[in-house]
Amino acid sequence: MDRRRCLQTAGGVAAVLATYNLGACSSDGGGSGRGGGSAAPNSNRGPTTSNGQGGSFEVPEPEDLEACELELSGGGEFIFDIHTHHVVPDGPWRQNAQRIADMILGLVPAGCAETDPYRCVDRTAYLHDMFLASDTTISLLSDVPNSGPLDAPLPWEEKRETRQLAESLAAGGEARVLLHDVIAPTCGELAMRLDEMERTADTGDVAAFKVYTAWGPDGRGYALDDPAVGLPVVEKAHQLGVRVMCAHKGLPLLEFDRSHNGPEDLVAVAKQYPDIDFIVYHGAYENQTEEGPYDPADAARGVNSLVKALDDNGIPPNSNVHAELGTTWRETLDSPTEAAHMLGKLLSRVGIDNVMWGTDAVWYGSPQPQIMAFRAFQISPELQERHGYPALTAELKAKVFGLNAARVFGVDPDAKRCAIDPDGLADARAELAAYARDGMIEPWHARGPMTRREVLTWLRRLREPWTPA
Ligand SMILES: [Zn+2]
Repeated sequence: MDRRRCLQTAGGVAAVLATYNLGACSSDGGGSGRGGGSAAPNSNRGPTTSNGQGGSFEVPEPEDLEACELELSGGGEFIFDIHTHHVVPDGPWRQNAQRIADMILGLVPAGCAETDPYRCVDRTAYLHDMFLASDTTISLLSDVPNSGPLDAPLPWEEKRETRQLAESLAAGGEARVLLHDVIAPTCGELAMRLDEMERTADTGDVAAFKVYTAWGPDGRGYALDDPAVGLPVVEKAHQLGVRVMCAHKGLPLLEFDRSHNGPEDLVAVAKQYPDIDFIVYHGAYENQTEEGPYDPADAARGVNSLVKALDDNGIPPNSNVHAELGTTWRETLDSPTEAAHMLGKLLSRVGIDNVMWGTDAVWYGSPQPQIMAFRAFQISPELQERHGYPALTAELKAKVFGLNAARVFGVDPDAKRCAIDPDGLADARAELAAYARDGMIEPWHARGPMTRREVLTWLRRLREPWTPA
C-alpha cells in the first residue's frame, strides 16, 4: 500500500489524530497517561493516549488497519447530524446571491470534476456523503442566509424534494432527512415572512425554523428579542406548534453584523419561552477566539459568550437552550486542548443532555472523518478535575451523537434505526467499501490536497483570512 492510499484509510485517520496528540503535548509532555497509555509522547510503541495535555485522541497504532477500522468506523451509534447543507445548482440564487455563490464555490472540493462545480455539492453528493459514505443515521437539512426562493441556494420546496428522495431510498419510506425553514424577518415585509412560516409549517415538514440574526439588508442584523422583528417570529413559531428554534451564532460569515452575532438575544428569549427549545448553532464559537477555561471577564465572544448569557439569565444546565457543534468541532479538533475546553464548557454549562452533533456537511465532504475523530476524543482527567468537565464516556458520546437531538426533535432512535432500509443501505455501503478495498479512494476520505499543485494552493490559502468577507 502506498502512502497516499494509506492516509485515506482509518489507519490514516489514526495517524493524523495521533499527530495532533503529539503536537498538543510537545510543550508539556510527560505526565502519567491513562487507560492503556504507557507510551511516551515521542514513542511509536503502544496506543497513543493522553500525556498531560487537556484533550487527546485515543487511537490504535495506525499500522493496525483492522483495529483502526473497528474502533473508528464501527461505533454503531444513532447519529443525528442536525447541521447539513447542499445546493440546487440551477437556481436564481446563482445570479441573485453572488457573494453566497462565491462562498460556496470556495467549499467545492479541489478534485471536483463536474463542468458545473456546484454539482459536487448538490443533492446527489448530499445523499452519497451523508448516507453512503458516513455512519450518519438521520440528518437535518439547513440553508445559508437567504430571504426566500429567489436567493436561496436550497429553497424550501427543493428541501422537500431531497427529503422525499431520501425517503424513497429507504424500504419503509422512513424519513431520514428533517428540514429547517430559514426565516429572514427583516427582508421585505414582516407580515409576508410570517405568512411564509404558516405556509411551510402547513406542509408538516418543518422540524425547526432557523434564523441568521446577524444577516439582513444593508448588512444590518437584528435581535431575536426585538419586539418589532425577532419576537414575532418566535411567537409565530409557537402558535404554529413548531417548538424548536435554531439560530446561527458565532462564526461570522460574509457581511455579518457582528453586533447581532452573539447568543445573548436568543438566551433572553429562551427565558420567555420555556416550552420552545432553542439551539445555538456553532455553540457561539468563533475561530478567531482561542477557547480556554471560562472567564467571565473575557466573554464577549465565543463559547464564553454563551456561558455568560446563560449565567446572566439564570438558566441552569439542561434546560431549553442547546448547543450544536457544526464546523466548531472540525475547526478545533486539530488543537485537542482547545477542543477539550470548547466541549467541556458546553457539556458542563449548556448541559450533557443539550449538546448536539452537527457537521456542516457536505461543505467539507463526508462527515465521517469528524465522526471518527469524535469517537476517539477524550478530555483529560486533569481538566475534568480542574474545571468540572465531564469524562467523554461512550454513553455521553451517544447522547451528543444523536440521543439529545432525538429527544428534542421527537425522534425515536430505536424505531428509526430499525425502520431505515437495513438491506438496501447496508448493501450500498458494502459495495462502496469494496471499491475502496480494490484500491479506489475511500468513499468518506477526508478532503485535502492530494497533488503537489493542490498542496501549494492549500498553503497559499492558509495565509488568507478564513472567512471570505
Ligand atoms: Zn451551516
